[in-house]
Amino acid sequence: MIKKLILTLILATSCLTASERIYIDCDEMDSSQHDSFFIHHGNNSWVQTNTIYRDKTGTYTFEANLTHGKHDKQMVEQYWKCPYCHRYWPHGTPCQNPNCPSRYP
Ligand SMILES: [Zn+2]
Repeated sequence: MIKKLILTLILATSCLTASERIYIDCDEMDSSQHDSFFIHHGNNSWVQTNTIYRDKTGTYTFEANLTHGKHDKQMVEQYWKCPYCHRYWPHGTPCQNPNCPSRYP
């Protein structure tokens, strides 16, 4: 709970240095995707990281490992998870999966 709070706080302030650790609650992490990890921070909002680290203090990533916006590179990109095909899309982008079950009700 505290860790999630930290992540949310960090994303809200966005004045994080690249060397600062962002601790991840493993229960809120999806590692089922190809070579990236998605971290849930509430309300079906996710951030993507390409690398996670583990040591005795816990599981963490760095701000520099998070995927940033294409247009605003200062902002960490926020994703939503399609409840039908379980793929991730940037906020504001509808599901682009041509095989998504939501297209065949
Ligand atoms: Zn979908």
